[in-house]
Amino acid sequence: MSVKMKIIGITGGKGGTGKSTVATALAYELAKDNKVLLADADVDCPNDHLLLGIEREHVRKVWQRIPKWDFGKCSKCGRCGKVCKTNAIISIEGRNPIFMKSQCNGCGACVFECPENAISWDKKDIGDVYKGSKYNIDFLSGELKSGEPVSEFVVNSLNEIIHERAPDYDYVIIDTAAGTHCPVIAALEMCDIVFAVTEPTPLGRHDLEVILLLTGKMGKKTGIVLNRSDIGNSEIIVKLAEEFALPIVCEIPYSKEIVDSYVKGKPITTEHIIEIKEVVLE
Ligand code: SF4
Ligand code: SF4
Repeated sequence: MSVKMKIIGITGGKGGTGKSTVATALAYELAKDNKVLLADADVDCPNDHLLLGIEREHVRKVWQRIPKWDFGKCSKCGRCGKVCKTNAIISIEGRNPIFMKSQCNGCGACVFECPENAISWDKKDIGDVYKGSKYNIDFLSGELKSGEPVSEFVVNSLNEIIHERAPDYDYVIIDTAAGTHCPVIAALEMCDIVFAVTEPTPLGRHDLEVILLLTGKMGKKTGIVLNRSDIGNSEIIVKLAEEFALPIVCEIPYSKEIVDSYVKGKPITTEHIIEIKEVVLE
């Protein structure tokens, strides 16, 4: 195990603030002289591999349990449909239930409710985990299949692999999904330090506040990264940082070079990312 192993979360309450840009650029900087694993846990819309120009290889499929019916045992009582909170079952007394598997989250309520044991478990393929490597960065990413409602199983599968592999690295960087739902919490749970990426807009401020409340409750060491710092009123973020007594570890102004990096599939290299690296190395 690496003695200095540190897990870093790059997160943000709001999508589109530049989390992936920061995560990939920090991975690139740290990998110049360290063993780095970058994990893209934004499974609804993974794009770190695109920003780094990584060709991904398939590692494993992710399955979710779903119910299946034995209509020979079904008494057509209609109870399974009544307990399904996602409306995945249409059941009318006197008729066989109709199941819409795309709406099922695998909660199991119908299986427990059935008085005839007519429902058992099957599974559906809901996503994939991939790996790759470039710029001395080892890379993992999870991806939820389009139309699937529950990202949690894909994130959990990815987290399992991160747990197994983390001890082989000096730094593990987890680019989380936006928001504060369970998969984000599960990813942040593993982190020693968290950077919340935001932008200077009222929506950015609002969503940053939500994420800072979360990382505060979780007791995580947190820094703020103010991206596109010159596009709005950065004072609103400075004030919020003061209220939470948290540092703004770096401000990244909007720049044409950063846009060019996106277009070319290359990590951004600016002195601002080195400011984040210095906080990580402390
Ligand atoms: S497992 Fe849950 S979500 Fe799926 S059909 Fe049954 S009750 Fe509905
Ligand atoms: S609860 Fe069981 S018995 Fe009743 S309709 Fe559903 S499957 Fe059939």
